[in-house]
Amino acid sequence: MKNIATGLAIAALAATGVEAQENRRNRVAPAPVYDIAPGLGHFTDDVLFGEVWLRKELAPRDRSLITVAALVSTGKTGQIPGHTRRALDNGVTPAEIGELITQLALYTGWPNAISAVTEVKKVFDERKIGPATASAAPPITLESASEAARAATVNRSVAPTAPALADLTNRVLFGDLWRRAELAPRDRSLVTMAALIAIGQPEQLPFHANRAMDNGLTRIEAAEVATHLGFYAGWPRAMSAVPVLEKVFAGRDAAVKPGAAATGEIRVVRATPENTATGPAAQFTGQVQVSGRYRGDEPARIGGGTVTFAAGARTAWHTHPLGQTLYIISGRGWVQKEGGPREEVGPGDVVWIPPHVRHWHGATASEPMSHFAIAEALNGSAVTWQELVPNEIYKAGAK
Ligand code: MN
Repeated sequence: MKNIATGLAIAALAATGVEAQENRRNRVAPAPVYDIAPGLGHFTDDVLFGEVWLRKELAPRDRSLITVAALVSTGKTGQIPGHTRRALDNGVTPAEIGELITQLALYTGWPNAISAVTEVKKVFDERKIGPATASAAPPITLESASEAARAATVNRSVAPTAPALADLTNRVLFGDLWRRAELAPRDRSLVTMAALIAIGQPEQLPFHANRAMDNGLTRIEAAEVATHLGFYAGWPRAMSAVPVLEKVFAGRDAAVKPGAAATGEIRVVRATPENTATGPAAQFTGQVQVSGRYRGDEPARIGGGTVTFAAGARTAWHTHPLGQTLYIISGRGWVQKEGGPREEVGPGDVVWIPPHVRHWHGATASEPMSHFAIAEALNGSAVTWQELVPNEIYKAGAK
């Protein structure tokens, strides 16, 4: 009996030892932090990494993007390698890290960006990540009405005093940088917002917070960006961002409240070549043009555009979180739910695809097809892309 009790006690001790080791292993704060500033060790491991990084209001990938953005923009190079590793582990691609640095060169200065490159290179070398290759993706088409309004503001308020700065703003910043496909518009907005908060530039924040939300960032995510940055840029910077966000949210509400003064403008997205883009090869097979893309103002979730498929062209397999409506404008097309029959559609036909149903749509093998597609976004996303539809499935119309 006594032996059993002793055995249990030893087992209990052993378990505690393992647990303690386990706890040490889970610590992010290096040992000297506990030696010098045990309180900081506690806040690092129990609050910052034990609580804040785990909050569901912002995905770990987003937290990594804004953390690296804060470090790059404030020139905290010593922390960049550790957070670059974390960012890669959280699903940020090497190309996205490079593009984040490029974006922040223009928003927080070349010296910060060049210093960041040196630190990131160390991590890429250690992980055997090769040199970046130029993206083949076509430039992103900016929403034409709001882009025209933005350019008009710059031409009115900047051009008379600093004409070259106005020209560079329109031609390089928005005509080139913001159109680069290497970072999704929402993520580009996210890192820009994070940098503005981190460097304490609330004057520029309303424009970029609105732009971020136009690009799909939710209010909960926007508020969480400020919360997270409290730890990486300090409480004063986070607190200064809050009243700015509050005003931005109120402004967006005022534009849509029933009975409120109608401040929104009717927007016409012209069917011009500038508003037409080639369907990306990861999402479409064959020749596909996407034109006249639009998105309604919050709280509307609606958005869409016209997609024109050459004969034989089609989407990849995909789903829509809140479903999709297709209106066939011209030609002959096929649409198929996985496991279902391949339906042929023609001009004037309307197709409803229910939420989460895996499907593809496109032209028939012998004729092109053009449809107008409308879908509501959930958390800023209206579609989840999957793999391309192989020829045998497309042609057979089988499962
Ligand atoms: Mn679809």
